[in-house]
Amino acid sequence: ARRSDGSGIVVIGLGRFGCHLAGALTRMDREVLAIDRDADQVQRFSTQLGRVVQADATEEGALRQLGVTGFGRAVVAIGASVEASVLTVLALVELGLPQIWARATSQKHAKILSSVGAHHVIFPEAETGDRVAHLIVSRLLDFI
Ligand code: ATP
Repeated sequence: ARRSDGSGIVVIGLGRFGCHLAGALTRMDREVLAIDRDADQVQRFSTQLGRVVQADATEEGALRQLGVTGFGRAVVAIGASVEASVLTVLALVELGLPQIWARATSQKHAKILSSVGAHHVIFPEAETGDRVAHLIVSRLLDFI
């Protein structure tokens, strides 16, 4: 998958969720551009992920310089800072990214993300909790 055809994926925020997402996409042979503002995180993942760069993703100009507009999809994996997550989504909307996925940590956060233009809002903690609950119950049924 080459960036020029828009099939690449930008992953912003290499916390616990973002680093696993970027790693999984890389193993699926997708072109991944990973961005984090923290130099230590960038250093940590530079050998495992294709392209890892340090930048503040709330800066539209910085994203443009990194060539983000050549990517078809972006995932904003920032969780803790609602402000950084919302401003990053806004920058991606202004750059015209065709498909923006954003992680929400609450319903209100999700509402803001949708209203600024995120196309898909995800709740990794809630979704994993639900999935594990179903897994536990179905496994228990195996023994009844
Ligand atoms: P997780 O649960 O996935 O570990 P978290 O909610 O604990 O995430 P966050 O504070 O959301 O942690 O940060 C996730 C990553 O996003 C961090 O590595 C952080 O450096 C990065 N990050 C935060 N703000 C920005 C930004 N403006 N630009 C780029 N990266 C950012």
